[in-house]
Amino acid sequence: MSEASGPPTRTPLRIEPNDNLGELEGYHSPQVDVEVRLNTNESPYAPPAEWIGDVVAELERIDFHRYPDRHAVELRSALAELHGVTIDQVFCANGSNEVLQTLFLTYGGPGRRAAVFEPTYAMHGQIGHLTSTSVVVGERGADFLLDLTEVKRVVDAASPSLTFVCSPNNPTGRAEPRPVVDEVLDLVVSRAQGLVVVDEAYGQFSSWTALDLVADDRPLVVTRTYSKTWSMAGARLGYLVGPAEVVAALQQRVLPYHLDALKQRAGLAALRYSSQMEARVEALVAERERLARALHELPLETWPSDANFLLFRPIGRRGDEVWQALVDRSILVRNCGSWPRLEDCLRVTVGTPDEDDRFLATLTEVLA
Ligand code: PMP
Repeated sequence: MSEASGPPTRTPLRIEPNDNLGELEGYHSPQVDVEVRLNTNESPYAPPAEWIGDVVAELERIDFHRYPDRHAVELRSALAELHGVTIDQVFCANGSNEVLQTLFLTYGGPGRRAAVFEPTYAMHGQIGHLTSTSVVVGERGADFLLDLTEVKRVVDAASPSLTFVCSPNNPTGRAEPRPVVDEVLDLVVSRAQGLVVVDEAYGQFSSWTALDLVADDRPLVVTRTYSKTWSMAGARLGYLVGPAEVVAALQQRVLPYHLDALKQRAGLAALRYSSQMEARVEALVAERERLARALHELPLETWPSDANFLLFRPIGRRGDEVWQALVDRSILVRNCGSWPRLEDCLRVTVGTPDEDDRFLATLTEVLA
């Protein structure tokens, strides 16, 4: 081809992807190259060095020419023991996002509805759209906690197969009080034949968990992740605790051998370091409170948090402008301005004390 002829022209493929993306195309958090990354709620700490040693040792033991244990028996047994449930009440997948997707593949789909209460974790709605489930949107109350009158209205109107309770809620931060979760469950049991999904991705940072509510005769599941407290976002591992009947239905729909052998061993090994994990959670909660107090001193609207992040809104300044000014100074937080009701809001993940000091000093300078 001669240089003058320019780039080759391609005949477009005559296949159209489906239009299940809904309104959420392009939602994802940009991965900008910066020195201080406080945008995706990961742990700021690497996993314990001993755990890395365990994983390296496992690498040598795994039969890589064989498929992994399809039912992840050892990992699920260990998680069952950790939470005082039975192995048939635990389902594991590649991050809690895959757990959520499998819930939609099992209980959602055309002609079925899922209820979400905005503003909340956008993937609940997005996976709903991807699986052709109708997503019915309710509003949170003024303080961003669930409003039971609104939950009742949505459950009555939509009879959802899946009702999402994100607790602590991303990106607003508060955990729902236990009586509210009890009440949502009662509403769903009495008015819809659906499942209540308590997304506890940030559950360990909160003072209570809905795990105690799980029972084989109750339509409630709790989802959890290794991405935050276990410092394993890079490994992609999450799980659900729920009625055995639900777990069996999920196992039937998820792809065979979806959970690779190394991940199963890595997840199992991590559970040996629970005390280090708990110490990190404690330190992050203390650091969150320090960060919250410091944000309180700045010209910001702020909200309390039971998670490892804080939501704030600059007073008298555009959120986009403050976000960009932070990026220009090599600090990345999450811009939540496009979320419903969160105009101009930003969300900062709790980092190490050094990262947080740098964030606070820079934010103070930007807001001055
Ligand atoms: N649920 C919530 C509320 C989240 O914020 C996240 C991560 N941002 C997830 C689930 C998914 O986590 P993962 O897939 O890493 O387990």
